[in-house]
Amino acid sequence: MNLLVTTVTDSIKNVEQLLSLVNISSDVFSTIPDEYYEFRERHNLSSVDECWIITFNNQDFQELKKYCKVNRYKIKIFRCCSISGLDSENSLRESKALLYNVILKAKECADKLYLSSEEGTIYGDMQESARIFGCDCFLHIKNNTNIPLMIQKDVPSSLFISTDNEICSENFIFESRLDTRESEENFEIYNSTPNYHLLEELETRNKQAIHLYGNFYGMIKNPRKEREIFRKLYYLPQHILDKLKAYKLGECREKDLWIIQHLPKAELHSHIGGLLLPEELIEVALKAKQYEPNTSNEESVKFCDNIQTILKYQNTPKELEYEIYKDVKDNFKGIGINRYQNLGDYQGSKILLLKETLEATLDIYANHLLRENIKYVEIRCSPYNYTKLDMTIDDVVMCIINTLDKYSNCFDYRLIYIISRQAKDERIESAISDYCRLYDNNSRFKEKFVGVDVAGDEEYRRPSELRNLFMPLLQRCARVTIHAGETDKVESIWEAVYHLNADRIGHGLKLLDNKELYERFVDKKIGIEMCPSSNDQIIGYEKGEYPLLNYMREGLRVTLNTDDCGISLTNLSNEYIKAAEMCPGLTLWDCVVLIRNSLCIAFCDEMTREKLMHRYEDEMLNLFNNIFGE
Ligand SMILES: [Zn+2]
Repeated sequence: MNLLVTTVTDSIKNVEQLLSLVNISSDVFSTIPDEYYEFRERHNLSSVDECWIITFNNQDFQELKKYCKVNRYKIKIFRCCSISGLDSENSLRESKALLYNVILKAKECADKLYLSSEEGTIYGDMQESARIFGCDCFLHIKNNTNIPLMIQKDVPSSLFISTDNEICSENFIFESRLDTRESEENFEIYNSTPNYHLLEELETRNKQAIHLYGNFYGMIKNPRKEREIFRKLYYLPQHILDKLKAYKLGECREKDLWIIQHLPKAELHSHIGGLLLPEELIEVALKAKQYEPNTSNEESVKFCDNIQTILKYQNTPKELEYEIYKDVKDNFKGIGINRYQNLGDYQGSKILLLKETLEATLDIYANHLLRENIKYVEIRCSPYNYTKLDMTIDDVVMCIINTLDKYSNCFDYRLIYIISRQAKDERIESAISDYCRLYDNNSRFKEKFVGVDVAGDEEYRRPSELRNLFMPLLQRCARVTIHAGETDKVESIWEAVYHLNADRIGHGLKLLDNKELYERFVDKKIGIEMCPSSNDQIIGYEKGEYPLLNYMREGLRVTLNTDDCGISLTNLSNEYIKAAEMCPGLTLWDCVVLIRNSLCIAFCDEMTREKLMHRYEDEMLNLFNNIFGE
């Protein structure tokens, strides 16, 4: 079907003239002017099957009706009921809203769409419609002659219809708002009540397009590392982007924290064995209250002793906290890896030995992720360490997966399998062979355990010493992250990359000590998982010494994480605040880059990454518009 859409605010003469031209009839003229034939041919115009007219309340159509009857043209009138002319801001807006709705609908129905309009304000709106929705030609009737002008060369095919399914008339409740009042054989009048959905959507997109153009132009003129940001944020006006870059964390802790908490975040470095705060430890221990020790099993007795010790503080969690932290309470900074690990003595493999305690721990953590607006998490664990009582490693794995699956509507998660440095060769070998057996036979394991980690005190083993043992993992193309350069020298990081094919490094605090390696990190896009609280508590940093900002300025894919949020008494939002304290000058823009880095180096599949990227950038766009927009 070919369609002509035009407006009538004054006289229907234009419509008659347009139809005589397009469909070649002699109603208006006693003879058709020769120019009309030439014009039609030159522009390859086809006859139209219907003519749609947009108009207002006071229009009388008797004359047009008669004209149509004689010529058997099919006419549809779309009438703004509540206005009688374009004499106020509201009436202009209403007519524009109707115009957009009608043109969108016409674009969907028509094989060929011709647009035209009378002169005046509405002419501009019609031209804008042609720009947005596209048309096959735009006809303009000049008042002083009979010859219409044609704008065809620069009429775009369509900015919206073909490229974006969201914009379709069904989504904008077109039909339901239009009520046919009069209908004769070839003539229908639809009375429209105001419906601004489409207009508002187009206005938003138009604004975003303008910002995007300005920002993109600025970016290609002045290439910097800023392309590493969520792309949709370039829909924001320049003044908001400037505010994000100028907003330094540290001036108002409460406001900083509020913003960081509301940003969608990702956590890549979090040990299941260090998740619990002292009061949460009690909550988990209560789940094991009924457990009867098996006196012939030493591990079972030890487990019960630990539960009983924790439950002594059942009503006084502060005292448990005091008990755990009493040696570091005056100076929880630079205490070294061993003392730090001892703070986790009540948890990890001491408490996660029952299905009930494992589930409870993960439930507590899941709620923590919800509160913190963490939408993607990688949790690392050593399942073979939780098999000292009745669970097999398969039980442990499935218990973790099933518990976290309950939250699949709230966040995406993946798991990382830890190999411990402290363990003897045989133990490491058996942990790796368990991994391979599960990977080869259990599809849920393969789906969720997407990477391996080497953790524990770096003093025990250099990565190079693990190369041979690691081979079955590398043969299965496991993604690899290695704790390195935390307490040991930069050589440990080098070995992690060159001997164990690390895709990411946990901590990597010494990287600046080897410039060549540092550059390779940038080239190879190797990720760094930094954990400010844990790093400060273990190593101890003076203000400005922490290498986070140096890493960021060179474009290294660095991320912020909690390590052991329970032991370090922290959460992910707090880690951004802590990072700003350790590195004065950290901006909100930097935080966004850090969050995006987490998604870039996450061990998930590309589809999940893409989905998360969209979800994160939409949420950030809204948040920043709300905080910094007018
Ligand atoms: Zn760690």
